Amino acid sequence: MALTNPEDLTQTAVSPRTVTVLGATGSVGCNTVDLLARNRDRFRVVALTANSNVALLAEQARLLEAKFAIIGDPEKLDDLRDALQGTEVEVMAGEAAVIEAASQPADIVVAAIVGAAGLRPTLAASRQGSIVAIANKECLVCAGELVMAEVERSGTTLLPVDSEHNAIFQVFETANAKEVERLILTASGGPFRTWTLEELAVATPAQAVAHPNWDMGRKISVDSATLMNKGLELIEAAYLFPVPAEKIEVLVHPQSVVHSLVAYIDGSVLAQLGTPDMRTPIAYTLSWPERMAAPAKRLDLAEIGELSFEAPDLQRFPALNLARNALTRGNGSTAILNAANEVAVASFLDEQIGFLDITRIVEETLDRVPAQPIASFDDFEQLDAEARRIAQTLVKSRF
Ligand code: NAD
Ligand code: MG
Repeated sequence: MALTNPEDLTQTAVSPRTVTVLGATGSVGCNTVDLLARNRDRFRVVALTANSNVALLAEQARLLEAKFAIIGDPEKLDDLRDALQGTEVEVMAGEAAVIEAASQPADIVVAAIVGAAGLRPTLAASRQGSIVAIANKECLVCAGELVMAEVERSGTTLLPVDSEHNAIFQVFETANAKEVERLILTASGGPFRTWTLEELAVATPAQAVAHPNWDMGRKISVDSATLMNKGLELIEAAYLFPVPAEKIEVLVHPQSVVHSLVAYIDGSVLAQLGTPDMRTPIAYTLSWPERMAAPAKRLDLAEIGELSFEAPDLQRFPALNLARNALTRGNGSTAILNAANEVAVASFLDEQIGFLDITRIVEETLDRVPAQPIASFDDFEQLDAEARRIAQTLVKSRF
């Protein structure tokens, strides 16, 4: 398992820690920046990266006095330079610069880019060998073997930011891993939990991104609506924890208070609870193995009164099974699943396909693209490109 013993980190646990945030302008990125801004004495910021939002990136870099600010879109270099005039922040632009930023020595790199676009920077961060706090689950879904090999080789500590995996990490007794019977990932069920298939057929992007509990980026919000997010998280959990996939279950829990559970062989079930605020799991990764204060609304169980749980409906939400089957098949199947899902979600947000088409396109792409083992980044790129090409063809056939 990549999660190392906290004692190995006593050297790096001294303040201030140096931090890089990849995808600083996104939902996870902004929550991370908020925590860093509240704890200026504990952290020094090495680099902040964004894809295209120059104004927000510049504001964050000024606020945190970052050493580097990097914008992915090379055409925006001059804008970024103008926005940071009069500061000592060094600016760079382009994909290579984002990867370069991820490679800079830092005690913690928060990997919060969305999608497979984050794979190369996350691999670069893993190579530099300290802590990678991983939010970018698609990296593990599309090339988990490559990321884990890099983590092992470099002695990197991978800490999960995703609230479910962070919850499991908080209650997973690493020394007693053999005594774990099951992992139970909770799922809110998303905005369409109670919708019929007829209603789902005409669901709009605006309805899909209106998540009942979490304020997140558009892509993950749609993934939550299809339940593909939980499928991706199942695959993520299989890489992060030494528990076979068949022992990882999904439980729908609409209030998003119990963030996940670990069941042990003696019948004990340990869970981590909290209000749905990503600053709690992010804070845990930034300060680990200690804890630091985070401003999430405190959990008042008496006020909530009741918590409910139900099994996921695999008829209305087939994405969960697609992900589980892809994980079982292995050999790059999860990379195909991820690529097709990224194409389908973008097409849905663009109003080119309907909501139910998303999982249909993922399923058909998985049927059409022959799986190939991923032993190198080139292998990944080829398979990813082929899956995207087929998924695009399927999108066009629906016009
Ligand atoms: P988001 O869309 O809000 O932000 C994405 C960030 O990545 C932005 O800073 C953007 O500039 C950057 N980015 C996008 N494409 C890029 C590219 N090609 N090159 C460089 N940078 C690029 O996404 P988010 O909701 O913050 O999610 C980020 C990741 O964290 C996703 O993998 C998501 O599944 C995961 N995650 C998010 C949440 C959440 O609460 N939002 C919770 C758990 C896990
Ligand atoms: Mg999650």
